[in-house]
Amino acid sequence: MINKIKQNILQIHFNEFGSCVYILKLDNKNILIDTSSQFTRTELLKDLKQLKIKPEQIQIIILTHNHWDHNANINLFPNAQILNHKNEKEIEKLGFKFIKTPGHTKDSISLLYQDILFSGDTLFNDGIGRTDFPESQPEKMQESLDKLKKLDYDILCPGHIN
Ligand SMILES: [Zn+2]
Repeated sequence: MINKIKQNILQIHFNEFGSCVYILKLDNKNILIDTSSQFTRTELLKDLKQLKIKPEQIQIIILTHNHWDHNANINLFPNAQILNHKNEKEIEKLGFKFIKTPGHTKDSISLLYQDILFSGDTLFNDGIGRTDFPESQPEKMQESLDKLKKLDYDILCPGHIN
């Protein structure tokens, strides 16, 4: 299902289990934030088709962290450059504020774009992400949440909404 967040920012969420996918058109670049899971692949392709966006037209994918329910569809996008926690400079060049938010995983990042916060699995509308995975860093979670609390945002775009 496609939700319009702003004129140039869309959220796709799915019936099957997997993260939300955000589509942003910034400076004529098509950017995805996360790609969801293998279970949502068909829905994702159908929604992109409805939006008249071809997978080849996605130029950049930013992963909020490296979990399978967020990264499983990167191979649908042959022309996309993949950016993650290692690419602070490139991500900031696109117009985002890049925020390291370890806790759910060591490699979790959040992204602020204007008044919209993309929070991955760090912060949800009704709670916070799990910190009991082997790749989690539970001792860092509170500090990460405090960083997000200080940001000036109006719209939360989390990794999962249901
Ligand atoms: Zn996760």
